[in-house]
Amino acid sequence: MTEIVIRGADHLLTMDDDRRELSGADIRITDGVIAEIGEGLDSAGEVIRAEGCVVTPGLVNTHHHLYQTLTRAVPGGQDALLFGWLKTLYPIWSRFGPEEMRISALTGLAELALSGCTLTSDHLYLYPNGARLDDTIHAAREIGMRFHPTRGAMSIGESQGGLPPDMLVEREAAILEDCIRVIDTFHDASVGAMTRVGVAPCSPFSVSRELMRDAALLARDKGVMMHTHLAENDEDIAYSLEQFGCRPGQYAEDLGWTGPDVWHAHCVKLDGAEIDLFASSRTGVAHCPCSNCRLGSGIAPVRAMRDAGVNVGLGVDGSASNDAANLVAEARQAMLLQRVSRGADAMSAREALEIATRGGADVLGRPDCGRIEVGARADVAIWDVSGVESAGSWDPAALLMTGPTRVRDLLVEGRQVVRDGVVTTIDLPVVVEQANRMARALAG
Ligand SMILES: [Zn+2]
Repeated sequence: MTEIVIRGADHLLTMDDDRRELSGADIRITDGVIAEIGEGLDSAGEVIRAEGCVVTPGLVNTHHHLYQTLTRAVPGGQDALLFGWLKTLYPIWSRFGPEEMRISALTGLAELALSGCTLTSDHLYLYPNGARLDDTIHAAREIGMRFHPTRGAMSIGESQGGLPPDMLVEREAAILEDCIRVIDTFHDASVGAMTRVGVAPCSPFSVSRELMRDAALLARDKGVMMHTHLAENDEDIAYSLEQFGCRPGQYAEDLGWTGPDVWHAHCVKLDGAEIDLFASSRTGVAHCPCSNCRLGSGIAPVRAMRDAGVNVGLGVDGSASNDAANLVAEARQAMLLQRVSRGADAMSAREALEIATRGGADVLGRPDCGRIEVGARADVAIWDVSGVESAGSWDPAALLMTGPTRVRDLLVEGRQVVRDGVVTTIDLPVVVEQANRMARALAG
């Protein structure tokens, strides 16, 4: 049995059912699970002192494309809208292989960990030159993050009227076969799982209607979750109306893409009826505010979604459309962006942090994560609020109003992945050097 006690945090934001905020409380962790919360807990094992710190549940990232970490801020795509941005990047992505997938994933996961993230999903939808979903899963195991990779796909290339070049698309039968392979090999349905696999055609404009439907049937047969991009911007809505004769919400519903086992990225352009559909069907949303700002997509109606009862989580989206992947900064951006359209009382710092923790965990079907309560997994972020960013604030719980934007310590399943601001599980400077070398080669 391994035991850790996190002792004496100035503030503990539990995000439990009562949203309790405790001062001076300790947390006992036993074998990766939160065993006890209270004052003056003794420990037979390690003690992590948390005076001068705010402790929160580990943040949950519900949308990412880790491979894009090697193509940040590519000059030709910096100022383009979604479709033009994609067309700039597809040729570069076609040069990726297994080692690029591994290094980009390690880099992106380390960046997330340092920003408080303990559980992330990933949406990998292109597999050039022998790359496989396995490459990213091995990377997540190396660094020790809780990981929900999704087997993405594109099947309609340029020659068939699609957006991606033909060399990046796959045959639909092969896509479904590989979905089965990765689910059977890696998916763990048990409570506390470190790896859960999902099925995720890239978007309604890069796969056929048949693949959307078959992917949903397969996911339900296997008991795994489903994910895609939906209603991202005006072009996306226009495409849906023109090609499918309906709005994205209707298209999703017709093909089985609504329900508690489904979450859609972006949903910037959902209308009132679609929000009601998502609420009544318990369909989740991955809100990606920085990406939406970066690509000029618009302001997602998150206030309306939350008021209607839609499960909303947060996503940094791929590092080519953010271009950062700092999850706590993303939560701040979510708070600010709702205020742009709805006023200063549209979203509080605490609500944004709730979306970033238990909100995301619920979207990913992980009620065992995203909250600090007895029986939950020990995914915990410890933020040092004794530094200059927080100086002068007497509500350290309002983390998103001030900072910091990096954790001091991070525990995943009770294991320390970040200690004193340093990733402990991989040699990060070496990984960063490899990432830079690979990015230069890809650009060449
Ligand atoms: Zn995306």
